[in-house]
Amino acid sequence: ETVQGPSLPEEKILVSVRLRPLNQKEIARNDVCDWECINDDTIIYRNVLSVSERSVYPNAYTFDRVFGCDSSTRQVYEEGAKEVALSVVSGINASVFAYGQTSSGKTYTMSGITEYAIADIYNYIERHKEREFVLKFCAMEIYNESVRDLLSADSTPLRLLDDPERGTIVEKLTEEPLRDWNHFQELLAVCEAQRQIGETALNETSSRSHQILRLIIESSTRELLGKDNSSMLAATVNFVDLAGSERASQSLSAGARLKEGCHINRSLLTLGTVVRKLSSFFLDEFSKGRTGHIPFRDSKLTRILQSSLGGNARTSIICTMSPARSHVEQSRNTLLFASCAK
Ligand code: ADP
Ligand code: MG
Repeated sequence: ETVQGPSLPEEKILVSVRLRPLNQKEIARNDVCDWECINDDTIIYRNVLSVSERSVYPNAYTFDRVFGCDSSTRQVYEEGAKEVALSVVSGINASVFAYGQTSSGKTYTMSGITEYAIADIYNYIERHKEREFVLKFCAMEIYNESVRDLLSADSTPLRLLDDPERGTIVEKLTEEPLRDWNHFQELLAVCEAQRQIGETALNETSSRSHQILRLIIESSTRELLGKDNSSMLAATVNFVDLAGSERASQSLSAGARLKEGCHINRSLLTLGTVVRKLSSFFLDEFSKGRTGHIPFRDSKLTRILQSSLGGNARTSIICTMSPARSHVEQSRNTLLFASCAK
């Protein structure tokens, strides 16, 4: 059965890869850097591939953009995320993801990108006095397919509801009206404190959970404020710091761990499937007017993000990786994910 799909979006999902420098631990054990960005869009594996490896792995990978270990987060933001994130001011939903194994630089990269984007959104608002903007900020964490509000001291799991007009909504999620830049910094501190309380209570680390920071922007021309809804724009941008991607491949043994592993697998694997399907639809199916089935409903993460993924939404995925030889297996998994998203 086929249904009529939306018109072909201008851009497919923007996929970039960022290499971090070797860290102290890697240097101390004489690990070496095996990956190099040879230009703006190609990353190569410099170590010699064995005959058996050669039939399985490429040694060069091409993406929309690659960032070497000397790149700055500012550069990653400008070239890999800015356009996508700022489309929110024009009423277009957007999501920016950081994907990669634990310690590859997801949080380092995503926290910088979030701050640059919000600063740029405030700059935009400053320059567009003809419109009135209302900003709201939300923050949540998905752990074991359970959703928690990072702006509330109440750690009761939040339910997802289906709203016929708005799609999936997170029930009772705090929507904090954002006053200004300082207020945003205060809210970030609240999130960090809530996240740490959760970690201590569960004796866990952030590598197992997904964090979503969400900015909702509503705007309308000043003279029409409160009179006419037709000039009203509303959109959402999500900044998503994913659980460590090793959770999608590693089999965890003992009971609870297994359950947890499965859940994390579910959100990360479903995201992988959704993104892969979306990007192949962008290339062939959309042009034929077909959308087929995209399994958004198979995980909490993809349900929550559904309206900001695919369709008319803009998406940027930044895959972070360690350049170390000892991490080659995880790095190849990350590049495989990135290739499928392209
Ligand atoms: P993840 O969130 O993927 O587990 P982090 O962002 O916490 O990884 O990064 C792990 C460590 O490496 C942190 O100490 C971080 O400051 C550092 N780091 C990550 N990326 C870079 C980078 N591009 N340049 C310098 N240090 C980095
Ligand atoms: Mg992290």
